Amino acid sequence: MIVKSICPYCGVGCGIEIESKNGKVLKILPQKDHPLSKGKLCIKGSFLKEVVNSKERLKFPLLNKGRSFKKISWKEAINLVAEQFSRIKKTYGSNSIGIFASTKCTNEENYLLQKFARVAIGTNNIDNPTRLCHAPTSYGLYQVLGNSAMTNSYEDLSESELILIFGDNPALTQPVAFELISKERENKEIVVVDVKKTETAEKADDFLMIKPNTDVLFLVGMAKVILEENLEDQEFIKKRTEGFENFKEKVKSFDLKEISELTGIKEEKIREISRKYAKTKKAAIVYGMGITQQSNSLETILALTNLVLLTGHVGKPGTGLNPLRGCNNVQGCCDMGCLPNVYPGYSSLTEETIKKFKKIWKVNSLPISKGLSLVEMVEAIPERILGLYVVGVNPLISFPDLNRIERDFKNLEFLVVQDIFLTETAELADVVLPSACFAEKTGTFTNSERRVQLIQKAAKPPGKALEDWKIVKLIAKKMGFGKYFNFKSPEQIFEEIRKCVGIYSGMSYGKLKKKSLQWPCDKENPNGTKILYGKSFGKKEKAVFYPPTFTRKEFNEDFPFVLTTFRFLEHYNTGSMSRRVEFLKKIKPEALLEMNEEDAKELGIKEGEKVKVISPLAEVEAKVKFSHICKGCVALPFHFKETKTNKLIWRRLDPVSKIPSLKYCYVRIEKISKAQEKNQ
Ligand code: SF4
Repeated sequence: MIVKSICPYCGVGCGIEIESKNGKVLKILPQKDHPLSKGKLCIKGSFLKEVVNSKERLKFPLLNKGRSFKKISWKEAINLVAEQFSRIKKTYGSNSIGIFASTKCTNEENYLLQKFARVAIGTNNIDNPTRLCHAPTSYGLYQVLGNSAMTNSYEDLSESELILIFGDNPALTQPVAFELISKERENKEIVVVDVKKTETAEKADDFLMIKPNTDVLFLVGMAKVILEENLEDQEFIKKRTEGFENFKEKVKSFDLKEISELTGIKEEKIREISRKYAKTKKAAIVYGMGITQQSNSLETILALTNLVLLTGHVGKPGTGLNPLRGCNNVQGCCDMGCLPNVYPGYSSLTEETIKKFKKIWKVNSLPISKGLSLVEMVEAIPERILGLYVVGVNPLISFPDLNRIERDFKNLEFLVVQDIFLTETAELADVVLPSACFAEKTGTFTNSERRVQLIQKAAKPPGKALEDWKIVKLIAKKMGFGKYFNFKSPEQIFEEIRKCVGIYSGMSYGKLKKKSLQWPCDKENPNGTKILYGKSFGKKEKAVFYPPTFTRKEFNEDFPFVLTTFRFLEHYNTGSMSRRVEFLKKIKPEALLEMNEEDAKELGIKEGEKVKVISPLAEVEAKVKFSHICKGCVALPFHFKETKTNKLIWRRLDPVSKIPSLKYCYVRIEKISKAQEKNQ
């Protein structure tokens, strides 16, 4: 049997074909007729069979017996989980339980998880890993433009004449999409702004090395030049925006010379890029976690929205504001309402929303008060959060301040982890529930460009592992809420999603079997929408300019370097899947510390030498690799459990979007003395 499916790694959502026999995966190959990937996969997608068939897959529910795990039956596992959640809820209240939803699970599974949180537990304490990568995007784009998503499409970006890329390295993080958007290079120019000359920057036409955490200033500088030289799109501003005068006044107060000094980019270069962006008809902006994983990221996102409104580069082909999302279903997980401040379809916490969902779900009560975000839930252990249900997330590698996170998790009264492997987080769980992976389930994923794609079950899960939606349903039933979760198939769940999420209302499995569809897909847009905001901004007619602000970071003499984190092409996030592939492990076996050669020389450090990276919280060791990185800045990948990079990083959160500052942390670099090395 051969079925069509989607690569479970990144937000591109490349098409794959899974060949299986007797429930076992034989081959996973690229889907030649896929509208985006057109027969291509990157190296991670090429080794998916090894992930599915890995001997390390979880096959049975496990009970933690202190020093080891004991296999238990599903009946025992479900009874225990239901009993513990019911006990905690009764003793401490519904808000003492939190749920981490998975950006690797399908829309149907995530929809069910948030319904479980709200109906069976009675809390809005549900969140997903978007919080760690694109929370300011979700918040900022929704506030200003009306939707939390890419405005345009990958295919459409291939038509852009100019693409400005901020804080992203799509040549490694989204390789297949990068190839697509950078094609037909003779007609286009790509400019990269980053702290490091990345693989994307190497392939670009121009590269601007920027000092860490100053992108917002560069963007304000661009707005200033555009206004000074009267390059703004006055007609667009008049017809489609509000708050321009206020914005203009605030921009005037910024000084271009000072911006140049703080960003490290020459004034003339800022002018050149600003003119180019304003004057090019099809000019797009692409960005990634380099600018979103900071404690003042929302300022940067609002500076980006200001810029597209100022130039009218939105709602038209080849333009727009395009966040490249991380995991393959991070967009869908948010669309489904796995967020503490909205119900499915981004319905805000109002009486009207509660009334709507009470009617659809046929329940008497639903929580209206805002829940806690991912990191806030952990911070609330053990006073306010006593039970956690973690589905397909590995916070023990991906969260900041890992040493404290580990202590917090150990303080929980009850931890359930549902995953396909025994991750570092699962090792701490009281109960581990084995789940099916992408090849063993039917459902939908929504990629970075809002494309909803149907995947079909190709194989049987190993041992007694079950699809996530079936596990959620079993727990809900045991807790006495079975009638609200009485779904017989993912398709039935999708039918309920259509009623709750307006932007999905025009889709059905029947339509998705024929072709994938980009939301909004509704009565007005039955074939989906490639480009957002052609006529209006979501439900609003006009988008609002936000007066720019810049929060200056303090300097810490004891920790003179800024540490940023990055990803390898060969590995994905916490490595829970990619680091189980021998070939990928061999190519990228360890975390190397990237450092500017001049900085290294000043400290007497040679390439290949092992050094200590010390932050106010912890220290790690890594060998040094020279790279074209901004002076004063060093970089480490975070995939490796052996290094645990994120234990260096503090928990400082953006005050509104609550994203932790994973790409900005003070450190110092110390040589390890030869004697110390010998003792190791
Ligand atoms: Fe998978 Fe992303 Fe690579 Fe495509 S680009 S094969 S979706 S990891």
